[in-house]
Amino acid sequence: EAETVIVGAGCVGCSAAYHLAEQGREDIVVVDQGPLFETGGSTSHAPGLVFQTAENELMSRLAQYTVDLYGELDGFADCGGIEVAYTEERLEYLKRKREYGRSWGIEGGELLSPAEVAERIPQIDSSVIYGGYHVPSDGKAHAVDASAAMAHAAEDRGAAEFYGHTTVTDIETESGEFEAVVTDRGRIEAEEVLVATNIWGPLFGEMVDVDVPLVPCAHQYLVSEPLDELAGASEELEQPILRHQDYSLYFRQHGESYGIGSYDHEPLLVDPEDIRAPEEAEEMPSIREFTEEHFYEPTHPDIDKSAYDAARELVPAFEDCGFERAFNGIFSFTPDGMPILGETEGIDGLWWALAVWVTQSGGVGSVVASWMDEGVPRLGNEKIDVSGAHLERFQPHSGSRAFSYARGGQQYQEVYQLIHPNEQPVEQRGLRRSPFYERQKELGAEFYESGGWEVPQWYEANESLLEKYDVPERSGWLAEGWSPIQGAEHQAVRENVGIYDLSRYTGIEIEGEGALEFVQRLFANDLDSSIGQVRYTPMLDHDGGVLADMAVTRLGENRFVATTGGGASATEHTRWIREHAPEEGVDIDAHVSDQCGLGVWGPKAREVLQPLTDEDLSNDSFGYFRAKEFYLDSIPVLALRVSYVGELGWELYAPTEYGGRLWDLIWEQGEDHGMVALGNGAFLGSLRLEKGYRLWGTDLTPEHDPYEAGIGFAVDTDTEFIGREALLEAKESDLDREIVPLTLDAGEVIDGGKPILDGEDVVGHVKAADYGYSIDAGIAYGYLPPEFAETGVSLEIEFEGERYPATVAEEPLFDPDREKIIR
Ligand code: FAD
Repeated sequence: EAETVIVGAGCVGCSAAYHLAEQGREDIVVVDQGPLFETGGSTSHAPGLVFQTAENELMSRLAQYTVDLYGELDGFADCGGIEVAYTEERLEYLKRKREYGRSWGIEGGELLSPAEVAERIPQIDSSVIYGGYHVPSDGKAHAVDASAAMAHAAEDRGAAEFYGHTTVTDIETESGEFEAVVTDRGRIEAEEVLVATNIWGPLFGEMVDVDVPLVPCAHQYLVSEPLDELAGASEELEQPILRHQDYSLYFRQHGESYGIGSYDHEPLLVDPEDIRAPEEAEEMPSIREFTEEHFYEPTHPDIDKSAYDAARELVPAFEDCGFERAFNGIFSFTPDGMPILGETEGIDGLWWALAVWVTQSGGVGSVVASWMDEGVPRLGNEKIDVSGAHLERFQPHSGSRAFSYARGGQQYQEVYQLIHPNEQPVEQRGLRRSPFYERQKELGAEFYESGGWEVPQWYEANESLLEKYDVPERSGWLAEGWSPIQGAEHQAVRENVGIYDLSRYTGIEIEGEGALEFVQRLFANDLDSSIGQVRYTPMLDHDGGVLADMAVTRLGENRFVATTGGGASATEHTRWIREHAPEEGVDIDAHVSDQCGLGVWGPKAREVLQPLTDEDLSNDSFGYFRAKEFYLDSIPVLALRVSYVGELGWELYAPTEYGGRLWDLIWEQGEDHGMVALGNGAFLGSLRLEKGYRLWGTDLTPEHDPYEAGIGFAVDTDTEFIGREALLEAKESDLDREIVPLTLDAGEVIDGGKPILDGEDVVGHVKAADYGYSIDAGIAYGYLPPEFAETGVSLEIEFEGERYPATVAEEPLFDPDREKIIR
């Protein structure tokens, strides 16, 4: 018996044990099928390069934490890291990367000339590169040493025991709760289990019938014979670690030898059941024989040069040397490249921490431990938004092997490639189509994928609008995956009317005799309103952090519908609601597939819809933030008079099978009123931003309370709700940070993730940015300390190596008196 069992003593399992022990948890048992601490998993042979800068804030912050922690435990060499640019495009990207680094708090990142790179890494041929990005605090983790140090620290506290050569063969659950792990040396009952078994994760999924969308991939690593160029170098790492991403390669020094890691080959996927147990494996179970063709020949249509050719072009010393060691090591890839963390829906006490690199392992241990212990994920003492790594972000199709292998393989292939955030996946498209899909296709929709849904980003049919509306040009990075048509759609909605597909949005219906009491506890606004009232409300975690913002409609005494987005927001929010529901008296039904939706917004919205219904749509009888169920022609709809774009209009929800007819009816009516199909680009990008509406996961995260997030107006502390106590405290104290809009003084457009500067100091970063086509200014939203969050404060935003003056403005930037909405 134990309080907590951890399966897997790689860097992730050890880090979780260390952090749980630090938090005062006792009675932790860690088991591993292999010997401790070189267990035979990926940690045992990882070269341990830690590059901290990522486009993604979460991954970067986890990496920074890992560097600090492993440094304290003598498990890290801070030799610095350099990423080189083989193309001009990459050099531009490295400038951008440095800006991400500054935004996420990485200090000292600098761009180097080719000669400066060669000063630090003399064996490279600097004539083939354009420069590099250097981070002095990057370096190499000694993953096994760090794992052992964390384990011993937990043991020394008397909090944890570690057992090697102990194989878990089953997980027992009972009535939705974890009971015990069964091992080849006996059964261990416990309150909770954390599965940290990396490439073996899917096998654990099978034990409990949970999909684990992860594919093990074999990855090449070689260590050269000693090089003359490194003669006399000590085993201690001296040179910075090196990445050559244009050929998906990386390098590190092993004393006088030089190591090469390569992703420059077709993905080599491995079925989890084929990964041998330690006693059957010749070497380590996570190691496969080196496949020469994948190193010495180009093996994928996207590859024009073999990895070896690319390596010796950059490091000519490889020309005449042999390799002392070469192997294919296995580690995990997920469909979106992010880890898999969290507790299983429907099985209390069963936790996962999978697909984590050494780079993030220290931080992930902290996050998982605090999440298990207090229900709130934290990195050290700071709250952190882990929604992008939450097990629950996956969609119904994600667990299939067809999907996870195709997308996981693509992630492997692209791990170092220069991928623009607007670039769309190729594999596994067209999975989820709304009933309007064919109509959208006819209108030339440019489809982007979101949670498997095909979502029109803009419509080519609207190109002719460019003759009427001015749209400022964009170039380079900002122009990729963007069309000026987005700007035209924006203006057409403000002038006439647009139709927008809401089908992936999810109405979470909460019904039953306990429904009112439950929604009052769940949401921070007072929902005890009249029937037919819609209320905007945050949903908070126990710390008062914003988990979601939703429109909640009261449809009956004890019947409510909470509307949230599609994809991850739908699955993660529904899960939280289910988890917190009382056992009796409340039914929860998430309408994902059985309901489609259309938004009709713009000054002409009423003229379009009124002829289709007997219901009086006038402002007097159907006011703003009211809801009604009626017939539109013969179609039963739920209509909400709300708008995320800041215009008069309605969201109309109907059973899916009526969708085709619903679109046609509205479209025919719209023709006389200049109706346009509105894509997601203008909807989520510019229209909502100009109006100052928040976007979950972008400018609204659990890291902030509603006051910081500028939605304190939607909190009513007279009711009792989850997170209230924390909010009462927050209300009394001064805000640490506050979200505000900045407008760019010269009207330009910039991008998210960029540092906001006061002189040389980074005071915040851009959470969301776009162009406000109706106010004619570039807009950037960011969280700033109060002294900078005052209207009129002048700051600068760094973007592509330039500084852009920007001024803090008052929100909303567009239609502050709501004259366009309430009419
Ligand atoms: P593992 O270390 O694999 O630990 C999982 C453990 O679970 C194993 O010890 C295994 O024995 C145990 N286990 C499995 N099944 C059972 C069972 N049934 N019962 C009991 N125990 C079980 N990352 C970086 O950040 N930087 C790098 O430079 C880097 N380079 C890499 C190079 C190579 C060649 C490879 C293969 C990986 C590399 N990685 C790198 C990735 C990194 O090594 C892994 O992502 C990381 O080590 C995973 O740690 P873990 O603790 O989750 O998994």
